[in-house]
Amino acid sequence: MSKDSKFLISEANRCLLCKNARCQTKCPINTEIPEVIRLYRDGEVDKAGEILFKNNPLSVVCSVICPHENQCKGNCIKGIKGEPIDFYEIEEFISNEYLKNLSLKPEEELKDRIAIVGSGPAGITIAFILAQRGYKVTLFEKNEKIGGVLRYGIPEFRLPKDILDRIQDLLIQLGVKIRPNTLIGPVLTIDKLFDDGYKAIFIGTGVWNPKKLNIKGESLGNAHYAIDYLKSPTVYNLGKKVIVIGAGNTAMDSARTAKRNGADEVSIIYRKGSEDMTATNHEIEEAKEEGVKFELYKVPVEIVDEGVIFRETEKITDVDGNTRVIEKEGTEALIECDSVIIAISQTPKNVIVVNNAGFITDHGLLVTHKGQTTREGVFASGDVVTGSKTVVQAVADAKNVADEIDEYCKSLRGKQ
Ligand code: FAD
Repeated sequence: MSKDSKFLISEANRCLLCKNARCQTKCPINTEIPEVIRLYRDGEVDKAGEILFKNNPLSVVCSVICPHENQCKGNCIKGIKGEPIDFYEIEEFISNEYLKNLSLKPEEELKDRIAIVGSGPAGITIAFILAQRGYKVTLFEKNEKIGGVLRYGIPEFRLPKDILDRIQDLLIQLGVKIRPNTLIGPVLTIDKLFDDGYKAIFIGTGVWNPKKLNIKGESLGNAHYAIDYLKSPTVYNLGKKVIVIGAGNTAMDSARTAKRNGADEVSIIYRKGSEDMTATNHEIEEAKEEGVKFELYKVPVEIVDEGVIFRETEKITDVDGNTRVIEKEGTEALIECDSVIIAISQTPKNVIVVNNAGFITDHGLLVTHKGQTTREGVFASGDVVTGSKTVVQAVADAKNVADEIDEYCKSLRGKQ
């Protein structure tokens, strides 16, 4: 995926190495972009890689799938009058090189056990930080492999999965014990983990419950939820004509995946305008280039065997200048399709909360204070706390929570 070195060097040389770099301050994890570019220009790829990895153990992933147009690239000073710098291409190259030869070992050996539930970006980040500090970490994952959305949501054509295998190797090198195919909640409960001697537990279980449209026909055989579909698209028989409802990353990924898996005609249908779509422009453009069609200002009212009945909508502005979308009664019409994929966001599955006392939630999301849930010794971050956000945000929040867990364990040691 990386661009050739000539391109990367010319991009690095275009950088102004700004003092108060906007690209850095607008990066949710405050990547030291000017310093990394300076080191890269000086041929110090390893040092640059070390800075990136220490600040963000998933730098190699973020370089590929961050919404750069809203972050580093979108805020590059060069972009005001010309072409912004593609820092992420340089980051991808440096991080890949760095990981090739990286070897990790814990700074010391601590006795405290930490349980991490969920191996998405949040869980992986906590595992890296606490294992490096010497904690005995066990990573529980309900799926076969680690990665969370990185493995079972974002398609291979956007994020090659071999990088996750490399990340797993590094975690194992640090002494992290990985338990795949292990759902925490009903059988292995939170109490059981504490009974077995874990000093602190981290929950990074993400959001895997699809939001419903709440219309008739949602349980028919031709309707699927995007988050389920993306887990294993090849097992679905969608037919030739597919409708995707929604306009975020998940909708784009579903549409592009359906195209790659044999659907001739894929349409994304959305109830608002293109300016309201939450997917990045980059993702939208890629989908268009691949032949995905877009139909705007239509809301689904019923799924039937032949397709989806939509009603037209309209954006109106009231006297105070507020805009809202209204449905236009009497405009219902069937759009035929073989299958429909519903991609209108996700909420957490509540398997831990339902089976274990003491957790308070707000709209299904775990309530935390300084990373600690309402159960003593149980911490959480990532999508299960914030709702669906981004990988870099999950990593940034997890870094803070790793420090909180460390402090908490130190305070317990002080009491012994
Ligand atoms: P997750 O990645 O969801 O990981 C949670 C893990 O916990 C999963 O492995 C799950 O199996 C496991 N788990 C859940 N319950 C249990 C349990 N009880 N016991 C054991 N294990 C459990 N963000 C970007 O920055 N760029 C993108 O391009 C992008 N594209 C996306 C595309 C899709 C289709 C989706 C759905 C999201 C996308 N996102 C993107 C958002 C991003 O992936 C998430 O914000 C991020 O993965 C959240 O990380 P997390 O660790 O909180 O949760």
